[in-house]
Amino acid sequence: MSNIETVVIVGAGQAGASAILELRANKYEGKIILVGDETHLPYERPPLSKDVILNPAETKIEILSEQKLADLGVEVIRGNGVVKINSEAKIIDLQNGDSVAFDKLLLATGGAARRLPNFDALGKHVYTLRNLEDSQALVPVLQAGRRIVLIGGGVIGLELASSARYKECNVTVIEQGPMVMGRSSPRVLSEFLLAQQRLAGVDVRLETKVADCKLDGEEVVITLEGGEELRADAVVYGIGIVPNAQLAVEAGLDVDFAIKINENCQTSNADIYAAGDVATQLRADGEFRRVETWENANIQAGVFARHVMNVEHPVENPAWFWTDQLNINYQFVGDMAAAEWLVRGEINPELRQESSFVLFGVTDGVIVGGITVNAAKEMRHLKKLISKQAAFEADKYLDISQDLRKLVK
Ligand code: FAD
Ligand code: NAP
Repeated sequence: MSNIETVVIVGAGQAGASAILELRANKYEGKIILVGDETHLPYERPPLSKDVILNPAETKIEILSEQKLADLGVEVIRGNGVVKINSEAKIIDLQNGDSVAFDKLLLATGGAARRLPNFDALGKHVYTLRNLEDSQALVPVLQAGRRIVLIGGGVIGLELASSARYKECNVTVIEQGPMVMGRSSPRVLSEFLLAQQRLAGVDVRLETKVADCKLDGEEVVITLEGGEELRADAVVYGIGIVPNAQLAVEAGLDVDFAIKINENCQTSNADIYAAGDVATQLRADGEFRRVETWENANIQAGVFARHVMNVEHPVENPAWFWTDQLNINYQFVGDMAAAEWLVRGEINPELRQESSFVLFGVTDGVIVGGITVNAAKEMRHLKKLISKQAAFEADKYLDISQDLRKLVK
């Protein structure tokens, strides 16, 4: 049992919603106040680059309905952001001038799209993607025949390229680095992702930088370093996020770009926690790392809730995330910086959505990472192998006639 009376959660997103469920699942009976600056109830962001654009009418993204929140006994304050934390008095101030007292506070404020001021200055035909309104704004923009330039070949760039091609747009991706999804994917998979985009008709430019941009009537004119000019009906840029950590900075908490948290998700103030995209967590190897995934937001929310309730944490699983592009499902688990990657099955980009293979990431003879490509059912086996720190045996694991499920035992 806990004698905490009030938990306040700032940020009605993935981690915020998950924290509510985890608190109640761990028998917290006190007050929960959820404060969000968006007018919506908590919703899932992964569909924003995919189904919300492709099937807006049929896509449901709500995580917690009004009824569910009421059943869970949550007081919801929405459309009213937190502007200040007074950590000594244990009070937060809201945009509308109200104040809310807390015993424990969770900062689950996520991140905001990193800005490109020269594009923002154009004032129109330029978009970013972080929230529901951003996604809805793209629906009328991504129309057949439109010329769409996507800046950034990360997850947003590639998922939007995929959605835009379904909508029969003419798509160009400008990536400054030598690889697409270079921050989250090993080279072997990045090359496959690149090949898929190019086979689908996307003009992907690697190691390419924008020198200038301007409006010419209703067109955006983008001049690349080297002088080439691209003309677009719309530009969407996805060049990473900046954690929404300003509140924590002003409250004097330890922040290094993101809010620093320990293994229990506590900040430098033991009564203030942080979870999700806004947090950078101390890991077993002594390094702080930020993980910008749906699963991480849920996991850290669980760690927070269990720590508040004095319940032990279960053993951590290796980190997992997914992306869906051009009708291919990709799932990633563990260390993407493994020393070598070995394929089970055939990597043949020409097979396109018929492709199906598994990649093993191996360091010092041990399986440390895994990727499934249209092979989701193998993911749980990879997770087990990584958790067990299994020795990699090529004759077993790369032989597709052998059932991975049986090899894992
Ligand atoms: P969020 O879900 O962003 O929630 C933060 C909330 O806090 C927001 O509502 C924000 O408005 C609010 N807030 C901020 N400041 C304040 C304040 N001062 N006061 C009150 N409220 C505040 N991950 C995957 O693993 N797979 C995917 O396929 C995938 N697809 C994605 C697609 C898109 C388009 C995006 C944007 C993200 C995707 N992600 C995906 C990442 C995943 O959605 C995020 O990692 C996850 O949402 C992080 O959860 P969070 O709670 O930290 O932040
Ligand atoms: P991202 O995955 O970090 O990728 C940004 C890409 O843009 C990087 O490749 C980066 O290259 C490149 N870049 C940076 N500045 C650039 C510039 N000026 N010109 C051209 N390229 C530039 O970030 P994102 O795609 O914007 O995604 C934002 C957030 O949404 C992240 O938190 C992400 O996790 C989340 N998201 C996740 C998923 C998923 O998991 N499936 C899907 C969509 C969104 P360098 O690395 O060289 O800087």
